[in-house]
Amino acid sequence: MTWNRVITFQILAILISASVKADFIPEFQNDRAQSGNYVMYLCGSGRPNSPASMLQEVLPYMWRNLQDVLADVKLGTASQRGYRSFFKTDENKQYVQAIFQAIAEGQLLQRHSGKNTDSVLNPTFICAIPGIEGSATTKWFNDFCVDDADFARTHHTAALYEPGTNFVVLCPPMWNLPTGLTADSCPDVIGRRSRRRFSPNSDGLMRSQFAGVLHELVHLYNPFEEEGFKETYTIQDLVDLNATDSLQNPQNYVAYAAGIQAGCDLFPLSPTATEDGLKH
Ligand SMILES: [Zn+2]
Repeated sequence: MTWNRVITFQILAILISASVKADFIPEFQNDRAQSGNYVMYLCGSGRPNSPASMLQEVLPYMWRNLQDVLADVKLGTASQRGYRSFFKTDENKQYVQAIFQAIAEGQLLQRHSGKNTDSVLNPTFICAIPGIEGSATTKWFNDFCVDDADFARTHHTAALYEPGTNFVVLCPPMWNLPTGLTADSCPDVIGRRSRRRFSPNSDGLMRSQFAGVLHELVHLYNPFEEEGFKETYTIQDLVDLNATDSLQNPQNYVAYAAGIQAGCDLFPLSPTATEDGLKH
């Protein structure tokens, strides 16, 4: 990471936030598509098998699956589909519900856009496609996916999100993933009853476009991420987080929703909420 690059990102962030309204970057104008409120740039709009066509499939797919998730969240800790493992307490039901609801709707985002003004912006995806000819902006995004992944505070090989902006960058590995998964991908569970745990190396559930896109959208819509919070990704570690950390950790939302999408039915209990209802 170079300082220059930090500055460039901040300028681009402002530019792109503004561009969602103004559409003034020519290559953005030429390659724009939309699915509900979600806008996508540079994704190969109008071309078959392009990231744009896959996104236009995965976003309605996400919406449909989130209807099941939203119904399940209402049950809270009475859910048989993992609410208690990933969110621990009924006190946080409404918060979790609101995040999934915002993602399902693609709620418009209020973002600070300089000089004390706030803008209301569409949630926006930008696709990086290697080898495509384009301007410095396109090349810059492509490099962003392959070099310097540590540059972003939150980064994944398939996608990343820069805090404070209204956009998510989608990288090429995303398009090698399946749209969603089946119960074959549900994590293995070891031990009995209150000692149940997910077995190590059981994270296949999160390797889908549904899960990857959802992860970044939780970043986009969850206002509660404390300064310096370090994300947790491994599935049993998600269960072991306390209720407060579970709320700010994107992968908790993803594991819960991906478990419902795939049809998983066996979950460990969190250490703070065992079957006998006592705190341990
Ligand atoms: Zn993340």
